[in-house]
Amino acid sequence: MSRPVRILLVGAAGRMGQAIARLLAGPSFPGLALAAAVDRPDSPLLGQDAGSAAGARPLGVKISGDLDAALADVADVAVDFSFHAASAAAAPRMAAAGIPWIVGTTGLDGAERAAVEQAARKIPVVLAANMSVGVNLLFALVEQAARALKGRGYDCEIVERHHRRKKDAPSGTALFLGEAAAQGFGWNLKDVAIDGRSGLSGERPEKQIGFHAVRGGDIVGDHTVLFAADGECIELSHRATSRDTLAIGALRAAAWLPGRAPALYGMRDVLGLTPGSP
Ligand code: NAD
Repeated sequence: MSRPVRILLVGAAGRMGQAIARLLAGPSFPGLALAAAVDRPDSPLLGQDAGSAAGARPLGVKISGDLDAALADVADVAVDFSFHAASAAAAPRMAAAGIPWIVGTTGLDGAERAAVEQAARKIPVVLAANMSVGVNLLFALVEQAARALKGRGYDCEIVERHHRRKKDAPSGTALFLGEAAAQGFGWNLKDVAIDGRSGLSGERPEKQIGFHAVRGGDIVGDHTVLFAADGECIELSHRATSRDTLAIGALRAAAWLPGRAPALYGMRDVLGLTPGSP
């Protein structure tokens, strides 16, 4: 029997880190094992067992605050749900350690994304703002819809809703949905994106994609893409009811990535959803 894939979990004390630890403590992923768990050096959960801290059985791995020490230990793949600046700072260290890297962290700016892309020249990297099967199918559907509706008077707007603690807005998933729509329309997202509207915003031009971020309570993540024309509105929606769908996607990626060639991959690659064929 082959040995399990050993995972280094970064952001282990966070909501996603704990969801992943709970899954690793359960029966669903027998081929994966937690090898190391890292969080901020001042995390209150430092020194606790990563499984127990997540409310699951002990996994025999304590949460540490030392990424470099964890990278020096044996792991087959790193799974990172931390903070945009932390993931960018980790990029050259992941590359130097030669560890395949799943980056679930969102909110990366241009320079931070460039750091991840640079690492992907040396190691295989999966960068995905949303790891769920449903959302990745939605990306493909939105692109297809925009292509079909192009030039027919349909206004595209994206509404996302998340829990009150979410740090970035609009969500990384909303921006990717915007990219998918822009691609279908044949536009460049940065030329057409607008964040919400207020005051005398004037008549809406057709060549525009509006983003609207709602924050409240414990909403895991809802995304709706509207295509509104005179007389009708098409809405393509996804609702996550639990973080598990995202954590399961991350662990699928962790099982898929080791042994791949250095490159920047997406969940479409992991899930086998080829562009244009949802
Ligand atoms: P969270 O705030 O609950 O957890 C983040 C964790 O990272 C915290 O425990 C924090 O202490 C830790 N952290 C911060 N800086 C660190 C550092 N330098 N080194 C190690 N750990 C560090 O947030 P969350 O809801 O778990 O989300 C984490 C990230 O993942 C966010 O960017 C979020 O938007 C993103 N996210 C992505 C997906 C996806 O499917 N790709 C799904 C959910 C969340």
